[in-house]
Amino acid sequence: FMPMAVILSVLFVAVTNSWLRRRSSYRDELRRGMAFGEFSVHYQPVCNLVNGQLAGVEALMRWQRSDGSWVRPDIFIAAAEAEGMIVQLTRHLLQLIAKDCASWKVPAGFHIGINVAADHLQHEDFVKDIRGFSQNIAHLLPTITLELTERSLISEGDLVAHRLAELRSEGIRVAIDDFGTGHCSLTYLQTFPLDYLKIDKSFVNAIESADGETPILDTIIQLAHRLALQVVAEGIETPLQMEYLKNHGVVFIQGFYYARPLSSAALMVWIEQNPPP
Ligand code: C2E
Ligand code: CA
Ligand code: CA
Ligand code: CA
Repeated sequence: FMPMAVILSVLFVAVTNSWLRRRSSYRDELRRGMAFGEFSVHYQPVCNLVNGQLAGVEALMRWQRSDGSWVRPDIFIAAAEAEGMIVQLTRHLLQLIAKDCASWKVPAGFHIGINVAADHLQHEDFVKDIRGFSQNIAHLLPTITLELTERSLISEGDLVAHRLAELRSEGIRVAIDDFGTGHCSLTYLQTFPLDYLKIDKSFVNAIESADGETPILDTIIQLAHRLALQVVAEGIETPLQMEYLKNHGVVFIQGFYYARPLSSAALMVWIEQNPPP
């Protein structure tokens, strides 16, 4: 029996070690990326279809490695979540945004959307982090909107609802992101204080699909209106999609058709070139 046990334990140690090394190395790379300024923020304009004006932006994180390659946000965000690094990374993001905002010229009430992960919502310093960020960009008189996914609302419901209510009473807005794509019941629509419902691109895509039928999209829009939530549709790529949404009472759209995510400097140029009429 001995040799077998020895072989097994050697195997076990080898596998565990390589697993640990892989894990710690991604964590180190995220840390190094932050320390060396490899992260930046792009801002995607959101259009108000009622007045045709820029309503605000969604902040989207970007990572360019020292060798010039870009890491996809869905990849490194998922890795940061898995490695317990998402709170640190989001704090870093909030600092980057505040730095960008120092030179911005935007109208009062300009919306700034921030994607918030589940771990952060449940972190004891969450409210403090958001308040600190709000104070750092207070000169813009912005409307900060927290974008939460259905998944992030599953656990610690009471705690999270309480925190969101507190922040909302201070003027911060809450959006449910990628609506309809998570594995969640609809009960959270009653449990959580919400202002916006963001419709995922996958439902918008149906507008130009072969049969032209969009029962789910139409139902989501009706549901949002019944709940007195404002609707933001994402991933609009064509004028037809925009017209359809406009005709169905959707007020806000975001997508390549209106504007792509832009660097801070490019956003300021874009705003100058697209002035209010
Ligand atoms: P999301 O929150 O659904 O963000 C919208 C994504 O759709 C962005 O991808 C944006 O570039 C893309 N998009 C916008 N309009 C169009 C369009 O017309 N066509 C197409 N094909 N795509 C469009 P991105 O920047 O690659 O981000 C992917 C996801 O990564 C985000 O999805 C979000 O879940 C996550 N993410 C990005 N930045 C952050 C962050 O700072 N924190 C957290 N927690 N998640 C983030
Ligand atoms: Ca989002
Ligand atoms: Ca989204
Ligand atoms: Ca999405």
